[in-house]
Amino acid sequence: MLGRTPLFAAIRALRAELEGGARADLGRDVRELAELLARRERRRSEPDRDPVEQELLSAFPDAAALVSKEGWVRVSNAAFDTLAVAGRAHGLTPLEITRSAELSDAVKRALEGTPRRLDLSVGRRTYLVHLAPLLRGEVLLLMRDVTEARRAEATRRDFVANASHELRTPIAAIRAAAETLLSGAVEDPAAARNFIDIVARHAERLARLTQDLLDLSRIESRQLPLEAAPVDVTGVVRQVFELLLDSARAKGLALASEVPPGTLVRGDARALEQVLVNLVENGIKYTPQGGVTVGVLRGDAGVTITVTDTGPGIERHHLSRIFERFYRVDAGRSREQGGTGLGLAIVKHLVMAMGGDVHVESGSSGTSFAVRLPSP
Ligand code: ADP
Repeated sequence: MLGRTPLFAAIRALRAELEGGARADLGRDVRELAELLARRERRRSEPDRDPVEQELLSAFPDAAALVSKEGWVRVSNAAFDTLAVAGRAHGLTPLEITRSAELSDAVKRALEGTPRRLDLSVGRRTYLVHLAPLLRGEVLLLMRDVTEARRAEATRRDFVANASHELRTPIAAIRAAAETLLSGAVEDPAAARNFIDIVARHAERLARLTQDLLDLSRIESRQLPLEAAPVDVTGVVRQVFELLLDSARAKGLALASEVPPGTLVRGDARALEQVLVNLVENGIKYTPQGGVTVGVLRGDAGVTITVTDTGPGIERHHLSRIFERFYRVDAGRSREQGGTGLGLAIVKHLVMAMGGDVHVESGSSGTSFAVRLPSP
């Protein structure tokens, strides 16, 4: 707040300067007041805004403004106004609005006649900026918010890099085994068997990876038509257990269902089966002793199916990331168990496609996944 004393002191100092004294040293508040008064004058003295220009800018889907010859925003659309702290860009310079010296320089150069296109970071957002000099000496400034698009591009790039890396490992193993066979190992039946076994295992891994990749891409691009019909959870859990009973038994683990008969959710039976296969399979893979239990919680906001194991749990800092594609707590361990790192990403996308959500809780006594789906 501007107090009385600095204002009086500034007035005295200015008077003294005008009467031939030293240059007045005005305080920050007083300088800001002077700037605001000057800006108000600037707005007052400006001619009426042209409604045609205003209409034209309002038709742009991006933030758009006309920058005057003096370098301040003369006309702007609503999207551009939201960039200004006070919600109104008029009368401010692009520097005052964005605090970007780079944009300010580019605007200056555009006012001198040089068009520019640049990427600009303002706070946490990224804009693609176009500056077009206009005939009458002003500049058209367009700012497209590309934050989400850039983020999606980065995710896609990471995904392609990760997928290629995952595919390369089994391909390299198959190629090495085939070369060893060709260079003589085929003559030795015991060695040949060993290398053919390597080929078979890695081919199996390739098949799993490509299947999971295809599934994910179909779910994401919504090519997989999902039903929204009542599904009998009890029956689906029974099928899932039948499928996985052998691998649970092989590790001495118990599979238990606490799902009351007749439990229904709204969704797609095949998708729910895939979700539960992935979760129960993970429980079996990562649990050394005890077992996996499937249960149900009923709430106002749908039905929650829980898959709980007695494994070692997942450390807290991994929990928010395990649904990401290819994210694993221990990549070596996951591969050893035949994991692709895509199982939980598939779970998340399928559950979301059915209008539900999935959460995980984990402690030293085990991990529990909770899949919430709409009531039938
Ligand atoms: P993966 O094919 O590696 O199992 P997922 O996407 O299914 O891939 O799981 C991602 C990672 O989450 C796993 O690599 C593992 O580290 C961890 N994880 C998933 N489920 C469990 C579980 N029930 N107990 C412990 N860790 C788990």
